[in-house]
Amino acid sequence: MRPSILYPLFSPMDTLSGVGQRYFRLLSNLCGNKIVDMLWHLPSGYIDRRCSISLKQARNGQLWTGNVSVIEHIVPKSRKQPYRVVVEDETEQMTLVFFKTYGDQLSKLLPVGAKKIISGKIEIFNQSLQMPHPDYIVDQNKAEQLPLIETVYPLTAGITNKMVYKLMAQALTYVPDLPEWLDPELIKQKNWPDFKTALWNVHHPQSADDLLPKSPSRQRLAYDELLANQLSLAIVRSRLKKIPGRCLHGSGILRDKLKPFLPFSLTEAQNRVIEEILKDMESPYKMSRLLQGDVGSGKTIVALITMLNAVECAAQAAIMAPTEILAQQHYDTLLPICESIGVQIALLTGSVKGKKRQALLEQLKDGTINILIGTHALFTEDVEFQNLAYTIIDEQHRFGVNQRLSLSDKGKNCDVLVMTATPIPRTLVLTQFGDMEYSKIDQLPAGRQPVSTTVMPLTKIHDIVAALQRKIAAGSQAYWVCPLVEESEKIDLSAATERYESLKKIFGEHAVGLIHGKMKESEKNAVMERFKSGAIKLLVSTTVIEVGVNVPAATVMIIEHAERFGLAQLHQLRGRIKRGNEASNCILLYGFPLSEIARSRLNTMKQTEDGFIIAEEDLKLRGGGEILGLRQSGFNHFRLADISEHQGLLMTAHKDASLLLAQDPTLASQRGQALRNLLYLFEQDTAIKTYNAG
Ligand code: ADP
Ligand code: MG
Repeated sequence: MRPSILYPLFSPMDTLSGVGQRYFRLLSNLCGNKIVDMLWHLPSGYIDRRCSISLKQARNGQLWTGNVSVIEHIVPKSRKQPYRVVVEDETEQMTLVFFKTYGDQLSKLLPVGAKKIISGKIEIFNQSLQMPHPDYIVDQNKAEQLPLIETVYPLTAGITNKMVYKLMAQALTYVPDLPEWLDPELIKQKNWPDFKTALWNVHHPQSADDLLPKSPSRQRLAYDELLANQLSLAIVRSRLKKIPGRCLHGSGILRDKLKPFLPFSLTEAQNRVIEEILKDMESPYKMSRLLQGDVGSGKTIVALITMLNAVECAAQAAIMAPTEILAQQHYDTLLPICESIGVQIALLTGSVKGKKRQALLEQLKDGTINILIGTHALFTEDVEFQNLAYTIIDEQHRFGVNQRLSLSDKGKNCDVLVMTATPIPRTLVLTQFGDMEYSKIDQLPAGRQPVSTTVMPLTKIHDIVAALQRKIAAGSQAYWVCPLVEESEKIDLSAATERYESLKKIFGEHAVGLIHGKMKESEKNAVMERFKSGAIKLLVSTTVIEVGVNVPAATVMIIEHAERFGLAQLHQLRGRIKRGNEASNCILLYGFPLSEIARSRLNTMKQTEDGFIIAEEDLKLRGGGEILGLRQSGFNHFRLADISEHQGLLMTAHKDASLLLAQDPTLASQRGQALRNLLYLFEQDTAIKTYNAG
């Protein structure tokens, strides 16, 4: 289905001459396995070999390029000595020094009397000029083989820059002339080159400015990529919008019944998002909406109220949580409320088995159960609903747009609400969730106590333990978080286990618990239960507690090696102790060395609790993609755009894409046809499939 004009760009990397099996493998790791991947591999610098001085003027350490004649070869007498070749220009002699040579390589390359152009770094040794291993030695009549400005690329072991540079020159010849897909007005206004020229330019920087994200060619390519992303999401979104759904317009009877059972009044923000969701549910089209709200902003009650709207319509609703612990927690929270208003609620996880499961499935099928809470077990094949109309997916930012599509396929014409507690900066919402509508709870319930955050070196750990003993004696509970080092779960685990053992000696055998990702769900649940009941006072964990766990009495958190965590992750963790109306303490322990970035992360944590500020800061510090969990989840990485540098372009691309689709929903116009090339070029398969499917 790919337009044939793009075939050459999508040929495998080994189509390029000089790329055999070994290089194919190395290049695949470096940038990808197709020629187009090579072209997306942007340079990080350049070497300026232009030089107009003679050898006499050359100084130590200088990069020198010039014409020389070969005078003589000094063959080493022992293996320890280097091979030397004496050359000269009109002003001075210089010795080329080779520590590694093979056979008669050098006598062939530099025969006495030959005239060559050489380029490399000059060293002055005993007052004479040397050049160890010149970068380039070419015939004077083949000057074009020596790039005067040599582009420098990010590399991987086994591949030299020269190699990438040469392959890039080949790859660039595969770029076809493509019809322009950008708005001519925009191009004129920005003074951007066309796609092919831009691509050539970025691979041939002539100045430091050319390497900057703001250079016109880099901007142009970044815009292309962002537009492909935004157009693709807009296509999916417009398709979803047209999928017929049900008009869920409940009588309000259950919601009224609920009111007296709520110990608080809803915040303005909660009321607003509830209105937004209800309006969407009432519409005759399928809902696909993202609900963002910081930890503790009160998403659960929003979920319940909107589910009640579905139940009032004699339909069923389901919440899917990412772990059993969270499913259980939702269940525990919602069960008493639902019981008091006569709504049937049930919990289905992997550990519900046998007769119990059978009975539950039957009640689900005959409609006795109104609300089902579960993990992904909820979408296994034998789970049949009588009348599922509304699905809520909690903390689902870990999934990409593809998974979202397949999930909502299962729910047929179900309305879907995705809830996430990860504050996602606006730009990332656009690039990752641009296929969905968007609601945000930007306000915490009144009366929340701030968390006091302290940053301390790990060497103070004894003081911390002493303080913790006093806190626990006074009735507090605490989390002790050990870092996750991605490279090795084994090491993480042993660090956490060790800490657990040593804390047990201090706090007593039964007062300390351990929880980590390698435990079975049932074991984790058992430990969580004992922590919730207060039997365990101090819970040592790896980052598994990160998302959603709610134990109001836990008011202290210690994070070991906090410098190893990302900002968003620290924020999520800290959110765990922000539940009640009691003051709480978070202690961030750091080890050395402490990088500048880590230091500034810890400072941010100390200064603010606002998740959105933290997320924006995170984006600034590390660029896109490291927001909690997004990287691991196939988060859309841009190859040409830099989300923190090209935010403005993203906004423009967003508007451009909506406008385009409004005017030309089937991409049938001339520009529409050109845009199809763009979608293919950036492999926006989801969108392409979507509109091919009609
Ligand atoms: P999250 O958005 O992190 O899922 P929850 O829904 O778990 O937050 O709510 C956190 C706590 O705040 C719960 O104990 C909940 O009962 C309480 N809460 C929710 N909304 C309000 C409100 N409007 N006023 C006071 N407390 C609230
Ligand atoms: Mg929650």
